[in-house]
Amino acid sequence: MKTIFENGGEGRAAVQFSDDQYPTEAPKIEDRFRRKNLKIPEVSEIEVVRHYTTLSKRNYGVDLGFYPLGSCTMKYNPKVNEDMAKLEGFTNIHPMQPEELSQGALQMLFELQEMMKEITGFDAFSLQPAAGAHGELVGVMMIKAYFQKHDKKRKKILIPDSAHGTNPASVTLCGLETQEVKSDGNGNVDLNDLRQKMNDETAGLMLTNPNTLGLFDQNIIEICKIVHEKGGLVYCDGANLNAMVGVTKPRDAGFDIMHVNFHKTFSTPHGCGGPGAGGVGVVGKLASFLPKPMVNQTNGMYHLDYNIPDSIGKVKSYYGNFGVLVKAYTYIRALGPDGLKRVGQNAVLNANYMRVKLMKHFDLPYKRICQHEFVISDRNMPNGVTTMDLAKRLLDYGYHSPTIYFPLIVHGAIMIEPTETETRETMDSFIETMLKILQEAQTTPELVKGAPHTLPVKRLDGVKAAREPVLTAR
Ligand SMILES: *Cc1c(COP(=O)(O)O)cnc(C)c1O
Repeated sequence: MKTIFENGGEGRAAVQFSDDQYPTEAPKIEDRFRRKNLKIPEVSEIEVVRHYTTLSKRNYGVDLGFYPLGSCTMKYNPKVNEDMAKLEGFTNIHPMQPEELSQGALQMLFELQEMMKEITGFDAFSLQPAAGAHGELVGVMMIKAYFQKHDKKRKKILIPDSAHGTNPASVTLCGLETQEVKSDGNGNVDLNDLRQKMNDETAGLMLTNPNTLGLFDQNIIEICKIVHEKGGLVYCDGANLNAMVGVTKPRDAGFDIMHVNFHKTFSTPHGCGGPGAGGVGVVGKLASFLPKPMVNQTNGMYHLDYNIPDSIGKVKSYYGNFGVLVKAYTYIRALGPDGLKRVGQNAVLNANYMRVKLMKHFDLPYKRICQHEFVISDRNMPNGVTTMDLAKRLLDYGYHSPTIYFPLIVHGAIMIEPTETETRETMDSFIETMLKILQEAQTTPELVKGAPHTLPVKRLDGVKAAREPVLTAR
């Protein structure tokens, strides 16, 4: 494909100005600031349109096809969310505008805080953090601040071996120390290991529930009890809230603090580093440590509340990723409590449908009813065909790959999350394709090992592509 610079020709343009559209008095710019020649593409409108439309077709997104990327909840994002985020009342205001002139925006934030309290069960909820990982950082900063005030020697955070890499990263970034807790044979936290490691230097446990194996920890009540009895706090990585939204509240299990990935559970487009939101909910005793400001209401007026005595401070410019929050608000209001419950139920139903069909042919290390995702391994793949090969071959068939090689405790992990928005037909054709690739691995393994064959770029060196990307056309 040509670059935009190789298209077009001298003097060609997509717009034509009439003489009266030029300013009569051109601003005087000194010669030394003027470039003699500026290499910009000179292209006609149709060349511009074709160029960028062709480029956009090389991308892959939820609007194009099935995106079973485990842990990421790549569900369909209803377009009504975009319409609401585009309302002039939201797009034409400025965060520095007086509160009296931003009542609608503040009301939206306040109501979203309230709805999140209801959904998660927590006493207070901040919408400020910009992503899940940022929510974790904020949560751990709050835990640290809490123990700075109450019990300075608590400096360790326990993290299960199945955890997302951002968990230990957040802890380390905060200057606390991580300690790993083992999983047991059922994919739950190993209670004996937890009991042994939980002591008076432990600030708490950071737990993903449902965990990254897609399993709801059956001992969650007991786990929280063990940590609480020894004076620690329990943090919930809420990235997997999609499985239980509307069905159960994390607070009821005993969690003290939790982040929620709005862009996952509450359907806003994400991936490729796009905007997100990672709000944090807390129990009453941690509320005074939340980032400031919070949005409050007095006498029918909404206002920003900076009076938060132990606050860890501001963690994001202005009030968070506002547009993302509008989309999440719209999604929650559009579905209502019954709709949200069906999200959780159908997400779990879809994942189990796929799990049962695939486990007849692929190795499923933890043979339990799963939540909204499940993990298979590469154990039954013949002729040295790897998880990577399978993932690349799926691209040839027009699918996004599932999450691979995560969690680390499963050999050659393939983590599949269909989400509630997919039809049975879509799931069936994906399953069929998985089985077809398994057969190819048997009969023509080289075909699978050489995949992808149909994409603009063939198999990349993943590490080099991430660390030394070449972003310019040569
Ligand atoms: C996605 C995810 C995160 C990180 O969230 P971001 O919004 O991507 O920063 C953390 N933990 C788990 C389990 C996740 O799935």
